Amino acid sequence: LTSIRYPGVQRGSYAQLSEKHVQHFRSILPSERVVTDADDVAAYNVDWLRMVRGASQIVLKPKTTEEISAILKYCNAENLAVCPQGGNTGLVGGSVPVFDEVVISTSLMNSIVSLDELSGVLVCQAGCILENLDSYVSQYGLMMPLDLGAKGTCQIGGNVSTNAGGIRLIRYGSLQGSVLGVEAVKADGEVIDCLSSLKKDNTGYHLKHLFIGSEGTLGIVTKVAIQCPPSPKAVNVAFLGLNTFDDVLQTFKEAKRGLGEILSSCEMMDLLALDAATSNLKLQRPIGEFPFYMLIETSGSNGTHDEEKLTNFLESSMASGIVRDGTVASEPSRIKSMWKLREGITEGLLHDGYVYKYDISLPHSSFYAIIPELKTRLPAEKVGRICGYGHVGDGNLHLNVTTRKFDAAVLKMIEPFVFEWTSKLKGSVSAEHGIGFKKTQYIHFSKSQSSLNLMANIKKLMDPKGILNPYKVLPAQH
Ligand code: FAD
Repeated sequence: LTSIRYPGVQRGSYAQLSEKHVQHFRSILPSERVVTDADDVAAYNVDWLRMVRGASQIVLKPKTTEEISAILKYCNAENLAVCPQGGNTGLVGGSVPVFDEVVISTSLMNSIVSLDELSGVLVCQAGCILENLDSYVSQYGLMMPLDLGAKGTCQIGGNVSTNAGGIRLIRYGSLQGSVLGVEAVKADGEVIDCLSSLKKDNTGYHLKHLFIGSEGTLGIVTKVAIQCPPSPKAVNVAFLGLNTFDDVLQTFKEAKRGLGEILSSCEMMDLLALDAATSNLKLQRPIGEFPFYMLIETSGSNGTHDEEKLTNFLESSMASGIVRDGTVASEPSRIKSMWKLREGITEGLLHDGYVYKYDISLPHSSFYAIIPELKTRLPAEKVGRICGYGHVGDGNLHLNVTTRKFDAAVLKMIEPFVFEWTSKLKGSVSAEHGIGFKKTQYIHFSKSQSSLNLMANIKKLMDPKGILNPYKVLPAQH
């Protein structure tokens, strides 16, 4: 067996699924949670971007940590490879099987364990959908410390396993800080209880970090303890039009100074990125046409004070000429439609055909330079769109090129060039989406050989047979 889309990748020497295995899974889980019907399994074999397609014949849907433990213990003993899957919104092909791995879906592990209203610590199962968690904690005056365009489908276990970033990282920081503890199951079925819900706990190694961002290669996350901040009393959003990228940077600098503690998001998009949402999803642009746009959000505790601060910031930015036009919203429905423009870009791009997607971190001074560079490198008649958007406040650019259909020649012109460029500027080849299946051969651009060796040793220690999410994260030679 070789991968359908990746002919160079060889299947590992794992066991093939047999009737004996299926029968055993039916002794662990009720029959309806052992899915073998080809039509029902099909959706679990394809990723959100429809770029990686596996050939798994089985999906297991456990509801408890004990069930996951029993499944993994058996798979390890039988040498069956597994692929953990959450909401399947990952953008690097990590969440789907490459060959015939057993899919372990956490979608039925969706219970809340506890919420401490005073500390704001939520403990829940890994399969809870992010948006549902946000609605739940909002009843107690709290919010989830992360937010992303896939919130209606992605699960907290997937978020933790990818160390997801998103649109509020600038305010609430990386998940590595907000996640206080995790419970996870190792490849051999052993349950690792690091489910501390304490803000401070310096007792030995911080083992939770083995699971935050390891993309299902070191264990399956079953429970998460996460710190939820109080929900803001007032939220305001400004949608701005700018002429140059230098103006974008200047505006970001002014926003940090002028808005200070209430700044909760600072996003940018170029005209072609915004156009993917307006033209392809038929969304309305709130201001005229500009080469660049910014979406700046404030969240605070005093509506009048926050609105005044934002209006002052906007007035002075427009008076100095760095912002050419702008509009401010404080009503939830208008805020939502402004956010829809930014969050709809990922989906809008898919409507172009094939998307070559890059998620890179760069120093602010060289953040946007790759876009004009690619415009000169790639023949205009071959590509539909070359655009950039992203979390400018975090130095994270989403660079996208689209063509009607996959074109190997275009890919060759982009890769490894984009990664070499990023590496030369001391950036990261994956700012927040992870490595998954699609970026393994490029990880060395952002990780030293000594780091890769240590990663391989940790993998061997935690999963000696390599059954957990094979072909992902670590480069093939490891
Ligand atoms: P999946 O896609 O199912 O899995 C992702 C990886 O985690 C896989 O390797 C999988 O094997 C592993 N995994 C999943 N659950 C578990 C578990 N319980 N235990 C162990 N391993 C597990 N990402 C960002 O960081 N920031 C963004 O702003 C952002 N915006 C997005 C917008 C859109 C429209 C879309 C489609 C995606 C976006 N993403 C973003 C990417 C994606 O949503 C995140 O990576 C998300 O955290 C994945 O969660 P999931 O539940 O869908 O995980």
